[in-house]
Amino acid sequence: MKIVFATHNRNKAEEVAALLSQIEILSLSDINCHEDIPETSETLEGNAILKANHITENYKLNCFADDTGLEVAALDGAPGVYSARYAGPDNDASANMEKLLSTMKGVDNRNARFRTVIALHIDGNQYLFEGVCEGIILKKKSGTEGFGYDPIFQPKGYNRSFAEMSMEEKGKISHRGIAVSKLISFLNNL
Ligand code: IMP
Repeated sequence: MKIVFATHNRNKAEEVAALLSQIEILSLSDINCHEDIPETSETLEGNAILKANHITENYKLNCFADDTGLEVAALDGAPGVYSARYAGPDNDASANMEKLLSTMKGVDNRNARFRTVIALHIDGNQYLFEGVCEGIILKKKSGTEGFGYDPIFQPKGYNRSFAEMSMEEKGKISHRGIAVSKLISFLNNL
């Protein structure tokens, strides 16, 4: 079986492909999809579904898509679905972290969580998978691995940030790792 992963991020596609035994993952470039896929929903679920819909409707292929947000308790769940564009339209990780650190200055409740939603469209059916990783927002950056908000996010039960973990260690406990494991066990049992 072949299935499209609706992401322009080749690293993400390869990471997931490596975990699936009997299913071939196609990237968007494999299917000649080079256009931007709209992410205009106000929820992670909505955006994952929008991206999956784009492939089902325009390419008539089985596919899945993901969307992730960092939900900070003291900010009522912000930046959430707007995590990539928190400090502006450029998805600038340093600017996003600086904005969050300054917004959180003096705030005692540091609780936050990453949440990933995956929408799978297969043979006309839709399935949703969720992965959550609870943690806290640190008061300053720590570590150089990973991407996005990793240097200021410390998962619960650890005294290191995501950016101080290897990709494998992070993948075992991360929001995306958890959502992808649920997707994989579903696909491998089809
Ligand atoms: P996406 O939906 O996977 O593109 O994630 C949206 C945004 O959330 C990214 O641009 C990052 O800023 C942030 N993000 C998603 N996953 C992670 C992660 O694992 N670590 C740190 N930041 C992340």
